[in-house]
Amino acid sequence: MAEQYADNKGRIVVEKLIQTIRENKEYLSEVDGAIGDGDHGVNMAKGFALAAERLTEEMGLSEGLKTLGRTLIMEIGGAMGPLYGSFFKALAGVCKNSAQIDAQVFGRMIEAGYTAVVELGQAKVGDKTLVDTLHPALEAYKEALSDGEGFKDALQRMTGAAEQGKESTRNLVAKVGRASRLGERSKGALDAGAASCFLILKSMADTIALYLLE
Ligand code: ADP
Ligand code: MG
Repeated sequence: MAEQYADNKGRIVVEKLIQTIRENKEYLSEVDGAIGDGDHGVNMAKGFALAAERLTEEMGLSEGLKTLGRTLIMEIGGAMGPLYGSFFKALAGVCKNSAQIDAQVFGRMIEAGYTAVVELGQAKVGDKTLVDTLHPALEAYKEALSDGEGFKDALQRMTGAAEQGKESTRNLVAKVGRASRLGERSKGALDAGAASCFLILKSMADTIALYLLE
C-alpha cells in the first residue's frame, strides 16, 4: 500500500511538530530549569532541527515520524532522546501500511507510543514525567471513540486531557529522572517532559484537524 494519503501530504504533521518544538525551545528549558538542569528545550529543539534537515519531499507521515524518531535516538542524549525517539518510531510503525490515518489508526499510534515509552522508561502515572500527560490523553481519546465521537472531537478531548495531565504534574513529587533527586522540593513546578508532551500531542491533533480532515 502507498504512503499515507497515497502521497506525501501527511508529512505536514511532522513539519508542524518540528516547528512547535523549535518555537518552544526557551519555554521548555525554562520549565526544566526549575527542577531539572534546564536543557530540555535545547535538547529537544536540537534533535527536531536535525530531523528537519533529514526530511525529504517524498516522505509521508510514517517516513517523517521514523526519521524524527531515529534522529532523536541517535543524536540526542539525556532522558528524552531515547524516550521520544522510541515514541515517534512506534507511531511510525503503526501508520506504515495505512492508506489513510483515520480515528482508529491514530488511536493505535498513540497507544503504541505510550507502550514504547513505558517499556523503556518504566514510569507510572504520578511519577511526574511525560507519562502524566500521555496516559490520560490516550485514555480520553479511546473513551471519546467508544462514546461514538468523530475523529476531530476525539482529538480535541485528547488535547484537553493532555493539558490537564500536564498541569497535574505541578503538585506531584518526582519519582524518576533527574528531578527525583529533589524529592519533596520537586513539588510546585511543572515537569518539563509533561510540558513538551502536551505540545507534541496538541500539535499533532491540531495539524490533523486543520490540514488532513475535510
Ligand atoms: P535530562 O533529565 O537528562 O536532563 P531532559 O531534560 O531532556 O533530560 O528531560 C527531562 C524529562 O524527561 C523529565 O521532565 C521527564 O518528563 C522525562 N523523563 C525522565 N525520565 C523518564 C522516564 N523514566 N520515563 C518517562 N519520562 C522520563
Ligand atoms: Mg534536563
